[in-house]
Amino acid sequence: MPASYSKKPAVAVVGGGVCGLGIAWRLAAAGCEVDVFDRAEVGTPASPAASWAAAGMLAAQAEYEPGEDGLLGLCRESQRRWPAFVRDLEAAGGAIGYRDEGTLVVALTRDDTTRLHHEAERQRAHGLEIQSLSGAEARHLEPWLAPAVQAALRYPGDHQVDNRMVVPALVRALAAAGGRLHQNAAITRIDTVGGTARSVQTSHGRHPADVVVLAAGAWSNQIDGVPERDRPPVRPVKGQMLAIRMNPAAPLLNHVVWAPGVYLVPRRDGRLVIGATVEERGFEPGTTAGGMLGLLHAAWRALPGIQELAILDSWWGFRPGSPDDAPLLGPSSVANLLVATGHHRNGILLLPVTVDAICSLILDGTLPGFAVPFHPARFGDAPCRTSTSMASAGH
Ligand SMILES: Cc1cc2nc3c(=O)[nH]c(=O)nc-3n(C[C@H](O)[C@H](O)[C@H](O)COP(=O)(O)OP(=O)(O)OC[C@H]3O[C@@H](n4cnc5c(N)ncnc54)[C@H](O)[C@@H]3O)c2cc1C
Repeated sequence: MPASYSKKPAVAVVGGGVCGLGIAWRLAAAGCEVDVFDRAEVGTPASPAASWAAAGMLAAQAEYEPGEDGLLGLCRESQRRWPAFVRDLEAAGGAIGYRDEGTLVVALTRDDTTRLHHEAERQRAHGLEIQSLSGAEARHLEPWLAPAVQAALRYPGDHQVDNRMVVPALVRALAAAGGRLHQNAAITRIDTVGGTARSVQTSHGRHPADVVVLAAGAWSNQIDGVPERDRPPVRPVKGQMLAIRMNPAAPLLNHVVWAPGVYLVPRRDGRLVIGATVEERGFEPGTTAGGMLGLLHAAWRALPGIQELAILDSWWGFRPGSPDDAPLLGPSSVANLLVATGHHRNGILLLPVTVDAICSLILDGTLPGFAVPFHPARFGDAPCRTSTSMASAGH
């Protein structure tokens, strides 16, 4: 805890997605007074928050793109922290559907197979664990895969959680730790006095706080009162998804499977989540025929057995994209205003490191080394502090 505090700080968290709720839970468990504000009902399609819309993959390797070595390191760090995070969260808030079968990336054509070989070389060069499989070996693991599957890579460390179970588990854990969640309570403004955050304005009135954490996902740059240079440079990156009903006693898949143009994520309750489009359309709501057609066709090529299965649901969400696709974690130039956003396509995976980084900053006054490269100041002219110079605040 920074020396300036004589007691643990009162914290206001803007946003009740996984980032805001996860940070709030840990702070409340550490004895802070915590209030989370969300403008909608969390864990429902009302916002629609990315944390509700996501696929829940903990996919450091499957999501690893060329040029993202720094982000890979953060993703791997978070992957290592997930098993302990699962234990703690399930003990405090109930089951979250963690599955550790691993992930298969399958090739359907010669081109795909060549691409997989290059991918395997690239990942092995970074010391990542991979199993190269023939088509027959892949079908031995997952018998419903199409006969056209020629080859596959298995990433044993890429697991999954059911994000629609994670959000309510965080809500229960927060409540059990004494934190408060205010739903249908939009934050319209963060008030600063002399360069220090002092309170948030909700649709129901003013709420004083020693520390404000901005974790409003793709909407994080829309809150008044935050100086221009501290507004997180996030944008909505739309993703459409759908779910199909499998027989939970005889599911078509057990692994998460990536095929060209699609991923398929089997849940224990029989839902098969199929995603996702990546669209630069601002906050345009809704699913489209083209989006669904592309996902279903790509899924059917890899897993033809979906042909006769019922479609359960379709939805969309907005990833909080940042200019380098990596999160913004840490202080702003406004004292006592911290940022935890911009997680783009990896926000579920990055939950443990996000929580640990922001809680360490608030409770111990320093940003852990793993989070320093993701300091919000990398995009602007704000000073790059890695410890808190938090002004003590009276309410
Ligand atoms: C289709 C899709 C698939 C994805 N799949 C994966 C995946 O498999 N694995 C993975 O790791 N990540 C995945 N992601 C990314 C992941 O979902 C996000 O990075 C993560 O959920 C971001 O969490 P968050 O808490 O920052 O934001 P959100 O979950 O978007 O939460 C932000 C919250 O802030 C609230 N809010 C906004 N403005 C205000 C305001 N003014 N006042 C109060 N509250 C406000 C919103 O109502 C919302 O509840 C996916 C995303 C999408 C869209």
